[in-house]
Amino acid sequence: MLQLNGGCHWWEGGSLVKDVIVPFFLGFYHAFKRTFTIKHPFVRLRWTDRYRGRVVLNIDRCVSCRSCVNICPNKTLEMVVYKKRLLPQYDAGRCCFCNLCVEVCPTMALSMSPEVEWDEYTRKGMIRPPDRFSEPIKPVAEKTVTVKILDKRRGVAHR
Ligand code: SF4
Ligand code: SF4
Repeated sequence: MLQLNGGCHWWEGGSLVKDVIVPFFLGFYHAFKRTFTIKHPFVRLRWTDRYRGRVVLNIDRCVSCRSCVNICPNKTLEMVVYKKRLLPQYDAGRCCFCNLCVEVCPTMALSMSPEVEWDEYTRKGMIRPPDRFSEPIKPVAEKTVTVKILDKRRGVAHR
């Protein structure tokens, strides 16, 4: 007797459709879906509004409560003395972009930015003391595209 999903029989419509037919057609659809390439960094893909890039600190709002340091699962944040104030330092190489620090901050001093281009040559360079942690994000390049636009253009998105 054919059983699907630990006990659901094949004639049970809901499970058959949800567990077999829908995934099959989704796989089929994606096999023929058009892919695209963009000439990054000359053309940049615009991230979605909820994209999680590097975390940014607003120094003026920080009240040195340490909540972000305590909740961070990766020990990405550490309190350091900066201009006679205790402020968080950010080790970008350790961040898993979970957003927990942003959620726990009582003064909304932290935010997830859409910035993704912040690579460094050294491991040490990834560590951002409060002054670099609070650097504003780079302006988004003028020539940005969205997946929707690329899709409309049909074909590879090189110009
Ligand atoms: S996003 Fe997550 S991993 Fe990154 S600094 Fe915040 S709490 Fe830590
Ligand atoms: S949780 Fe917010 S206010 Fe508290 S130390 Fe972190 S950034 Fe500053």
